Amino acid sequence: MSSNKISTKRRAEILDGNAVAAEIKAEVKDAVARLRESHNVQPGLAVVRVGEDAASAVYVRSKIRVSQELGLKSEHLALPAETSIEELLDVIEQLNSRADVDGILVQLPLPSAMDERKVLEKIDPAKDVDGFHPINVGRLVLNQQTLVPCTPAGIIELLKRSRVPMSGAIACVVGRSNIVGRPVAQLLLQHDATVTVCHSRTRDLASVTSQADILIVATGRAALIKSEHIKPGATVIDVGMNKITDEREARELFGDDAEKRINSIRTRGYTLVGDVHLRDALNAAGKFTPVPGGVGPLTVAMLMSNTLQAALMRRGIGNVSSEQ
Ligand code: NDP
Repeated sequence: MSSNKISTKRRAEILDGNAVAAEIKAEVKDAVARLRESHNVQPGLAVVRVGEDAASAVYVRSKIRVSQELGLKSEHLALPAETSIEELLDVIEQLNSRADVDGILVQLPLPSAMDERKVLEKIDPAKDVDGFHPINVGRLVLNQQTLVPCTPAGIIELLKRSRVPMSGAIACVVGRSNIVGRPVAQLLLQHDATVTVCHSRTRDLASVTSQADILIVATGRAALIKSEHIKPGATVIDVGMNKITDEREARELFGDDAEKRINSIRTRGYTLVGDVHLRDALNAAGKFTPVPGGVGPLTVAMLMSNTLQAALMRRGIGNVSSEQ
């Protein structure tokens, strides 16, 4: 059960997603500069957005800003909410045929009337920097080289760079979505972990998750994972991003540390929390990603890395790393 105060025995090492993301972005920036020098190629990213969803607009702006910082050529196609699916498919077709576009990302969610699957399947798999095309999903399952979905790829990078051993580890993924749970389970398997995937129908979740050396949680259920779900000393990766708007709930979740959270609710209208109970993770886990500042920053960094990767793969260039 959750404790009321942060114990003085607090021992979890915080895995700093911002620092790892900065490292990855610096490597991509370097490689992009070398690619321009050696092959006169500037990788291009096109981000397509349909409608006026405010959160999507913020995400897209941040993707464009970061891509420009790293020397990629990027463009943002903001289409009106009334755009028909045929018009959107035409836009994608044009981007597919353009030599200067290496990566195409359609920002989700699309307006509800649009068939998301049809849209994602229209993207040339070689330019599918989100890694959602069925061909790329198939390649991932078959352990072939491919463009891997950004959040799962970022989680694996974080584990590697934090020296968390995956080979032989017992890993548990809570959540089986196509964008996080399933692909991250595949990647863990590729890295020789023994993987279990849990979901809303899993019986006695704690009895499964508490076996795991590596616990990855992507459910969208605030503070679902508590002490009893965590094996002492485990590495816990919290993918969840949940908006808490109720001050009482923030007090329950953060106890004596709630003041900053409550200020955030008062000024921004919400505070962001993960799927893992913060105090419980700090007390029980060995390593832990905070929300915000854990997995979130890695997603954009891996999008940049995927765009570079797509540019290299499309041109048959092996790599442009500094070790060459
Ligand atoms: P989905 O809603 O697509 O999937 C949620 C999964 O969690 C489902 O498989 C569901 O099971 C499972 N689940 C729900 N409730 C429970 C429960 N009580 N016990 C066990 N399993 C449960 O979510 P996403 O994968 O898209 O996202 C998950 C979270 O990660 C969200 O908070 C999202 O905002 C965040 N996210 C963060 C990203 C980042 O960059 N940091 C990127 C992407 C997502 P079932 O299949 O049975 O319904």
